[in-house]
Amino acid sequence: MIDPMNVKRLLQAIEFAAERHTSQRRKDAEHSPYINHPIAVAAVLAVEGGVEDEALLLAAVLHDTVEDTRTSIEEIEERFGAEVAGLVGEVTDDKSLPKMERKRLQVEHAPHASARAKQLKIADKICNLRDMAISPPVGWSVERMLEYVRWARAVVEGCRGVNPQFDAVFDLAADEARRNLSS
Ligand code: NDP
Ligand code: ZN
Repeated sequence: MIDPMNVKRLLQAIEFAAERHTSQRRKDAEHSPYINHPIAVAAVLAVEGGVEDEALLLAAVLHDTVEDTRTSIEEIEERFGAEVAGLVGEVTDDKSLPKMERKRLQVEHAPHASARAKQLKIADKICNLRDMAISPPVGWSVERMLEYVRWARAVVEGCRGVNPQFDAVFDLAADEARRNLSS
């Protein structure tokens, strides 16, 4: 039996994220709607990671709203509570920093993230690696995508051990992305 309150909050989060990401598209040739990505991240956590933690699933749906839209952590806290806002904050890059520095800091900070944020980071990387393989960003060379796979592995190295079943899902996604790109 599904708890109706959980369903209601999850639907509210999806509705909110869809509204905030409404004009955004992914970087693939089809310009897929951006909201496909946060929904996929939450679904991967629930279905392949076996995660039933409501705050973590809500944070997955909302994980790119602060980084990529006009949404503040305070607004997430008002609407969805401090737990969800804290998790979204943990996976939000500081956009005032240069891109390469942000990427370096993701690797450096990963081992110090909370157990829940680590799983969210792994889910995000799984989805991006799968996108890289089936609907890659337009204009990216194979070498650039392989570099992305290497970087994703480095971030996930610092996130391992919380949910070993989920670590293995990442390993399969990374191996498959590398194999596809190298063939
Ligand atoms: P980005 O971080 O700009 O792009 C990757 C991110 O795009 C993903 O993490 C994902 O983030 C999002 N995304 C959107 N659509 C897709 C999709 N279809 N598939 C996968 N991910 C998608 O790129 P880089 O990681 O390459 O970092 C940019 C840096 O790369 C710059 O600093 C630049 O200097 C350098 N660069 C490197 C080149 C090279 O050949 N190596 C060439 C040019 C630049 P999210 O989860 O947030 O949506
Ligand atoms: Zn993401």
